[in-house]
Amino acid sequence: MAKQKQQSEVESKIFGNHDHGNCFDDAIKQIEIYFIKKKLQFTPLRRKVFEILLRDHKPLGAYEILDTLGKEGHSSSPPIAYRVLDFLIEHGFVHKIQGLNAFIACSNPNHIHSPAFVICRKCEKVAEIDEKKSGVSFQTPGIENFKVEKTTVELIGICRSCSDTANW
Ligand SMILES: [Zn+2]
Ligand SMILES: [Zn+2]
Ligand SMILES: [Zn+2]
Repeated sequence: MAKQKQQSEVESKIFGNHDHGNCFDDAIKQIEIYFIKKKLQFTPLRRKVFEILLRDHKPLGAYEILDTLGKEGHSSSPPIAYRVLDFLIEHGFVHKIQGLNAFIACSNPNHIHSPAFVICRKCEKVAEIDEKKSGVSFQTPGIENFKVEKTTVELIGICRSCSDTANW
């Protein structure tokens, strides 16, 4: 129950002013604990890519990530950067936003989820919500002899900060 509450706080604060230092530190702490538990190496490049994606709640394309890596002294080639991204996706710390062809750090990696994304078309911030709350569930698609393994739910609109309140 406590976890549930935490998750909805995460969603609502992303589009407003919030202490992003807390978000950032929290996520780093979670990934560090996970890597130790799984005996995985949190290499400098993996850490750097994750940190870049965590800076804001904005998704970044692979080339923006590469660019930032280069500027910050971690020059890397596309295949290496893609491998790092795939690795972080596989372990649930990064998600790919298909509609934007971009990547975003997971805001709640500690539980198994099929996330849905709420995307502001103006500021391009993205909040991750639980699939169940998106109102769309493909868990039982009503298709016989078919098991859903992955769903992509992306809701595009405008956040309160970006819209004039008269129209809200
Ligand atoms: Zn934040
Ligand atoms: Zn997630
Ligand atoms: Zn916005």
